[in-house]
Amino acid sequence: MNPVILHGTIVHTPTKEVFDCHPDSYLISEDCKVTGIFQELPEKYKNVPVLDYGNSLILPGLCDMHVHAPQFVYRGLGIDLQLMEWLDRYAFPTEARFADLSYARIYYEAFADALAKNGTTRAVIFGTLHAPATELLMEILEKKKIGAYVGKINMDTLSPDYLCETPKQSLADTRKWIEDTKDRFHLVKPAVTPRFIPTCSTSVLEGLGKLAQEFDLPVHSHISEDLGEMSIVRDRYPQYDNDGDVYDHFGLLTSHTVMAHFIYPTRHEMELIKERGVTIAHCPQSNGNVAAGIPPIRQMLDLGVKVGLGSDIAGGYSVSIFRAMSEAVYLSKLQWLRSEKKDSFLSVPESFYLGTKGGGQFFGKVGSFETGYELDAIVVDDRSLCVPADRLSTEERVERVIHLADDRNIISRFVAGEQA
Ligand SMILES: [Zn+2]
Repeated sequence: MNPVILHGTIVHTPTKEVFDCHPDSYLISEDCKVTGIFQELPEKYKNVPVLDYGNSLILPGLCDMHVHAPQFVYRGLGIDLQLMEWLDRYAFPTEARFADLSYARIYYEAFADALAKNGTTRAVIFGTLHAPATELLMEILEKKKIGAYVGKINMDTLSPDYLCETPKQSLADTRKWIEDTKDRFHLVKPAVTPRFIPTCSTSVLEGLGKLAQEFDLPVHSHISEDLGEMSIVRDRYPQYDNDGDVYDHFGLLTSHTVMAHFIYPTRHEMELIKERGVTIAHCPQSNGNVAAGIPPIRQMLDLGVKVGLGSDIAGGYSVSIFRAMSEAVYLSKLQWLRSEKKDSFLSVPESFYLGTKGGGQFFGKVGSFETGYELDAIVVDDRSLCVPADRLSTEERVERVIHLADDRNIISRFVAGEQA
């Protein structure tokens, strides 16, 4: 494959402490992998066409580590409801409509377009319990060049009658869907996706743990999100005092598991998550909207837990991972106050790292421009965010983009080495 050469102001976070900035430089990839960042174009590339973006920012693609594709239908609605009422009024009736493939196609196309326009190059995604609609979602994501792990979700208990499987059907449909899709796409793969512990019987959790192991698949779900959810889990599994031990009992915590939220971890549970190498999807906008709580992100980072960011549509209302970065800082400041200023709040480079390399590591070498990383990049034209007299440093430009940019500023994207 021909080399790809991008010219502009290149910024990434190989470590979470600082931005690594390269104004007026060249980012080069060969065979879809980054070969380096250069101030002068090396001689051997002199005859290769350069995609010149002037002074625009070239940043790693954004990674959304937890998002519900069917909930895109009602994003921004019911934000003033409590979780259970919101699920009953919006989530469950809407998800039931994805039995209809023509309905699914309309919304999944719009969902994938929104992700792409907002600079998301990789995502970990909930579908519905319907295997055909989930397969359609995977096809659409592949076509629109979004790298993703997608889940046909499982729910066979504590769910409305019109959206509930039998344990046998849940596992049989999941197996068939895995077999049908695991080798079918280049950028999109299946993930084992129990909705969460309350909606999955013991036999389904056990079966899913075995399927994840048999097919060597990633796992995606919710963990310790809400006090109501957690009390259901405590009642059902009184031998454990936390959600993590329940998932672990069924073999669902591995180095290729991503769990959303983790708002109320016990110390033991946090150490277990670290030990197993699980990635936590931090979804600040959703945590505030559904009034679930504030997760101890600083403590997780200090312990060395892997953390990425999620939009959690439609608990969150925006698909933008720039919004998630901005709100991760905001929420961490509330936690700083709550901890009597013990848990220091996130820095801007830290929040940027979480939304790029922090999530990207779940997909392999993704989310950074270090040599050998897959070329996932977005180009951001931030001129509309500045007035001509501004004398901002490159770091300040990125900071303003995090807080103020939207899809109009994102002018190009590259996924796994190819322009998308
Ligand atoms: Zn969620």
